[in-house]
Amino acid sequence: MESLTPATIVSCSQCGGDLHPDAGQIFLTCPYCGSTVFLDKSQVVFHWYVAPTLDETRARGALARWMAGNQTVKDLDRKARVTEVTFSYFPMWLFKRRLPSGEDRLLLMPAAATSISELKRIHLPPGDLRRSTPEIDRTAQPPTVPLEAALNWLSQSKIPLQEIVEKSLVHIPIYTCKYFFNDRTYTAIVEGASGEVFANIYPAKAEAPYLAIGGITAILYLCLATFPAMGALQGGAAGLGIGFLICGAAGLVIAPILFAIAAWIAAKI
Ligand SMILES: [Zn+2]
Repeated sequence: MESLTPATIVSCSQCGGDLHPDAGQIFLTCPYCGSTVFLDKSQVVFHWYVAPTLDETRARGALARWMAGNQTVKDLDRKARVTEVTFSYFPMWLFKRRLPSGEDRLLLMPAAATSISELKRIHLPPGDLRRSTPEIDRTAQPPTVPLEAALNWLSQSKIPLQEIVEKSLVHIPIYTCKYFFNDRTYTAIVEGASGEVFANIYPAKAEAPYLAIGGITAILYLCLATFPAMGALQGGAAGLGIGFLICGAAGLVIAPILFAIAAWIAAKI
C-alpha cells in the first residue's frame, strides 16, 4: 500500500515564498527575501537575535556593580565569589501589540524554562533586532514553550489576540553568573546587550532589623503620648502640664538613641 507523506511546505512570513524545511528543521532562511524564520508547530514566525555589546569582562563588571548596589547585602561584591560565567542565547517570544489608539507595545515572554523568571522584565530596543545567522541557528537554545502556550497566556492576561500584529522569536544574549556567598550558590543573569542584571533570589538587605526599630519607636512614643493624658486624669491642668513636660523631655532623650541604633543597623547591613 502506498503511504502518502505530503511534503512539508510552509510560507515565508515576510514574502510568502515557499519554504521547504528538512525533517526536524526549525530554523530557516528564506531563499527569496533572506528573512530568517522559526517554524513553530502552529505557524512560521520571524527569528531575530540581539547582538551582545558586552564581553565577559564587562559582564562581570556589570555584575559587580549590581552586587555593590543598594538591593543586595552590603559589600556583596567583595564577599561573594563568582564561580562561573557562561554565555548563551536565550529564546523569548516577542509580540507586537497594536492598541486601539494605534500605539504599538512590545511584549516579551521567556520561550524556555528558566529559574530566573525576572527575565520577563527585559526591555528590548527594537532597533537592535537582527536577522538570525547560521551560527545562532546552530548554537542558540531552541524554544521549549510552544507559541500556542504563549498566546494562551496572553489571552489569559486579558490581552486581545486580535491586537497582536506581529509574532517572532528573539534570541537574547545572556551571561549566566553563579556566585557563592554564605555557604550557598546564587544565580544572576547579566543581559549581554544592556548589562542589566536579573535575579530572583539574592542576598538582600535584611528588612527585619529596620522593621523592629520602627516598631520599637512607635511603641515608645505611643507610651510617651499617654503621659499628658494620665497627668490630666490625676491632677487636672497641672497634671496635664507635668505630663507634657515628661513626655517632651523623654522624647528628646530617646530620639537620638533610636537614631543612633537605626544608623548602626544601616551601616551593618
Ligand atoms: Zn521570504
